[in-house]
Amino acid sequence: MNLKELLRENILNLKPYSCARDEFKGQASVYLDANESPYNSPCNRYPDPYQLKLKEQISAIKHVPVSKIFLGNGSDEAIDLLYRAFCEPEVDNVVAIEPTYGMYRVSADINNVGYRPVMLNSDFDIEAYRIMDGTNARTKIIWLCSPNNPTANSLNTEEVLKVLRWFRGIVVIDEAYIDFSERESYSKYLKEYPNLVILQTFSKAWANAGVRLGMAFASEEIIAVLNKIKYPYNINILTQEHIQKALKKNNVAQVQEWIRQIKEQRAVLMEELKSLPMVLEVYPSDANFILAKMDGAIHVYNILVKKSIIVRDRSKVSLCDDCLRITVGTPEENQALMSELRKLRY
Ligand SMILES: *Cc1c(COP(=O)(O)O)cnc(C)c1O
Repeated sequence: MNLKELLRENILNLKPYSCARDEFKGQASVYLDANESPYNSPCNRYPDPYQLKLKEQISAIKHVPVSKIFLGNGSDEAIDLLYRAFCEPEVDNVVAIEPTYGMYRVSADINNVGYRPVMLNSDFDIEAYRIMDGTNARTKIIWLCSPNNPTANSLNTEEVLKVLRWFRGIVVIDEAYIDFSERESYSKYLKEYPNLVILQTFSKAWANAGVRLGMAFASEEIIAVLNKIKYPYNINILTQEHIQKALKKNNVAQVQEWIRQIKEQRAVLMEELKSLPMVLEVYPSDANFILAKMDGAIHVYNILVKKSIIVRDRSKVSLCDDCLRITVGTPEENQALMSELRKLRY
């Protein structure tokens, strides 16, 4: 892969905005360089544009060097920046598995970039040669998501590695749900594959969706490009400080306990769902949600809404006819759902 050939020319040649915190790094006693207010500490100060303290903590937990980490305002920022870095509007395109997370397509549409979905097989899995068949000379990015949303399964590792070997552009593996899976992260392949970008997030297992922090792991060269084109102060002080606290040892233990409980509840909920007459199939899950095929998904969905229980209707999604996507909640929330479902008459 040649990054220079892959990048849009304007991005390759871009001279980035140089902010005050770029020009002077280090400690001083009087800061009169950024037109900040001297009052209302700490929010009066612009945040660290490269979030170094936070990245050092993330690096220790994820075993990825600081230089290979990008932080964004949710994973959605990294998704958008990858389009803007690599895909020339109206000229370039991307390939993505189908069905998958909706933001890859929306972001392609916003950036006026072609989107070429390749249908998963009936096991919701990929075949590398079919993914490659979906590409052409103008394909810059392949979007994979494992464990995948909304199908809940992890993709076949051998096939994913074939795509990484065969494709000469960027391969993104979105691991938003990796903490609920027994599989290892693909981050151990970063050295071997300079075209690999991994997305992770604090929105799911880390229980911080409201704070908005997403991670991208990739080669130094790709991370440098994302840093060059992001808003200078994309991660605010409150988010940086909040997640630094979340990464302290005792809180990490709490998060691990939450993950254990969610996986336990996932198994309970899957068994209970299988016992219901209107549930036709419960698909395997490596995530914190369950995809279930219903006899009349929309009917079930509407009854649950009336009972103030909201699940996600995925029945219009390809390969997901009559499917509901159910997030695993607390034992009480899951039992509230089950007790309403048991009342349904068929
Ligand atoms: C929930 C989810 C995310 C998280 O996005 P954020 O912007 O980090 O909240 C990313 N990818 C997938 C596939 C998801 O389902």
